[in-house]
Amino acid sequence: MRKFLAVLALFSLTFSTLFAATDADKPLTGYTRENSQGQRQWEQKFRALPEPANIRANMQRLAARPHHVGSPYDKDNAEWMLNTFKQWGLDAHIETFDVLFPTPKQRLVELVAPKKFTAKLEEPAIPEDPTSSQKAEQLPTYNAYSIDGDVTAPLVYVNYGVPDDYDRLARLGVDVKGAIVIARYGGSWRGIKPKVAAEHGAIGCIIYSDPNDDGYFEGDVFPGGPYRNSNGVQRGSVADMPLYPGDPLTPGIGATTDAKRLELTEAKTITKIPVLPISYSDAQPLLAELGGPTAPEEWRGSLPLTYHIGPGPSKVHLLVKANWDRKTIYDVIVTIPGSQFPDQWIIRGNHHDAWVNGANDPISGMSPEMEELRAYSELLKQGWKPKRTIIYAAWDGEEPGLLGSTEWAETHAAELQQKAVAYINSDSNSRGYLGIGGTHSLEAFINDVARDINDPEKNIPVWQRLKLYNISRAKSDDDRKDIRSRSNLRINAMGSGSDYTVFVDHLGIASMNLGYGGEAGGGIYHSIYDDYYWYSHFDDSDFVYGRALAQTAGTAVMRLADADVIPFDYNGMTETIGRYVDDLEKLAKKKHDDALERNRQLDEGVFSATADPRKKSVPPPREQVAPYLNFAPLRNGLETLKASTDRYQQAFAKAQQDGSTLAKAAAVNTRLMQTERAFLLPEGLPDRNWFKNQIYAPGFYTGYGVKTIPAVREAIEQGKWQLAEMSIDKVGKVLQSEAVAIDAATTELEQSTK
Ligand SMILES: [Zn+2]
Repeated sequence: MRKFLAVLALFSLTFSTLFAATDADKPLTGYTRENSQGQRQWEQKFRALPEPANIRANMQRLAARPHHVGSPYDKDNAEWMLNTFKQWGLDAHIETFDVLFPTPKQRLVELVAPKKFTAKLEEPAIPEDPTSSQKAEQLPTYNAYSIDGDVTAPLVYVNYGVPDDYDRLARLGVDVKGAIVIARYGGSWRGIKPKVAAEHGAIGCIIYSDPNDDGYFEGDVFPGGPYRNSNGVQRGSVADMPLYPGDPLTPGIGATTDAKRLELTEAKTITKIPVLPISYSDAQPLLAELGGPTAPEEWRGSLPLTYHIGPGPSKVHLLVKANWDRKTIYDVIVTIPGSQFPDQWIIRGNHHDAWVNGANDPISGMSPEMEELRAYSELLKQGWKPKRTIIYAAWDGEEPGLLGSTEWAETHAAELQQKAVAYINSDSNSRGYLGIGGTHSLEAFINDVARDINDPEKNIPVWQRLKLYNISRAKSDDDRKDIRSRSNLRINAMGSGSDYTVFVDHLGIASMNLGYGGEAGGGIYHSIYDDYYWYSHFDDSDFVYGRALAQTAGTAVMRLADADVIPFDYNGMTETIGRYVDDLEKLAKKKHDDALERNRQLDEGVFSATADPRKKSVPPPREQVAPYLNFAPLRNGLETLKASTDRYQQAFAKAQQDGSTLAKAAAVNTRLMQTERAFLLPEGLPDRNWFKNQIYAPGFYTGYGVKTIPAVREAIEQGKWQLAEMSIDKVGKVLQSEAVAIDAATTELEQSTK
């Protein structure tokens, strides 16, 4: 078989056309032969409709002025979209929420010793970039949900400011207690930096964009090139979203006007110490005056100076004060009622709010989403009748903390848990390869969709291009073998960082995040320079990947909406969970072995013998060696899940093969919808009960980065062995529940297709 594939690869061009011909004859997964033919015709009509010119025009309109939460143009955009959707004949409305949204009142960063310097905290207008001069409407550079504070202290450079960096600081004998830390952007989600700094006793936190990460080290800077110039600043939220996203005052419930709210002092997601972001021209004088040890090589950025750690002699005064107002946010919701299964919902969303003009983030995703709706309105006029209800959302308030999606989904939680089949998200879009994150029951499905989308630059299916890209980037022979031999490309597990979070993590709804990227870099993220001028010069300037995104997401929505049986596939899901369990066992063993080795080196005197007596060096602390954990409950859960998966997939294959029996199987859909919910536990993850999904969560110390089987993984990482054992037991039971949910679907399928 493998040999056969290798030969095929040689003639890939000829054979891909051949494959395309055979693929078109094969019924779509979850469709009867007859319905599949009709569906393919509707989908082809759909994919011919999105126009790059419209996507460009949408961007010019939506990104014309700053449109952050609470700004006049944020509301204006929502109303314009509402009217546009109505003009297309669609049923649309705006749903509002009242959320806490602090905006800056006072901001100051000054070096008070050994020299004086006051940071500009200002992104200047650039003559050739017309919208960069809209000063009156731009939010100043700041980090939302930083607590107010006025502190003066010696400065310490902490690299990315993640937990490992503090271990390194401890080895160098540097303590941040009572200090202000300066961290560079990158390495984690930004909200992690002040959180970890505060845990280590720091009293203030400055975050800057080092030119190494998205500035001149990467390429020419704006406006000559796409990268961050010396004055560009990354705004952004620093709320502790790994605890719970959404409005800090209404955890777990919708922020409606009459909602019961926490006092500001009770809101746990606001930072413990003041935080402010700065540019590299503002950071350089602060870093230049640092003394103490030279930073380790991996910690050094690209500024023309020797990176020192401190503490001091740089002494910094940091002042942050906000207006702690509540603002109204505007979610635009479009409903296309289902003709056969109105109580089964396919939901699609992208946010519309930005930090400033936000042409890339989020309008490069929002504009194609609008174009999907325009295309649907055409199809509806031509007689397309989606079987399931389709709900399109343009979310507000994503940037401060996934506010629009979280508050909407919390408000409608009960109904969503009953009716939601899937949620499809996008955010920003660029040129290059299709990026797919998702819950793994959708892996086979989205692979099939990607096989039907044409790459605008290479004129091959985006699926094929992604496969070849994955091969080019694979790190090992095993990885390459996996990519070449597996029928479907693996999709990424989702952490957080966009509006899918509440759907996956809180409500257990099968979800995906789609977007193209990988070819156009840049450094304008969350700055005033993320605007139409930048996007139309340096990114998807002919908007053909905007069209590809509309085609991809729009096809996925249609195919889910019209299937006779929802095309969840549990093979890839169960196999992937099996890999997570393998990972956990390896992680536990590594923790065990590492502690043994470290303690052994302490006994041998390795650290004292190799420490340079002219430099300060502290040996690492002796570690408690991890006990052997009993993974049997997880292994047993996995075995049960495998057996259930096999039974379902066999029954499904039989029904699919028959061609007509799927039409009789409608009752199985309500069962299938519940299979993703079975991954939830009502008590949630340890110490963060908003996060209920036991398979996927953003890391408590990564923020965006995913932790799979998070309760077990984080307990092991943090050396909480009892908690790890308990969590293994719990998740083992969750896998058993998942097997029961799949069995219920199998029984239903077998009976109805008899
Ligand atoms: Zn975004």
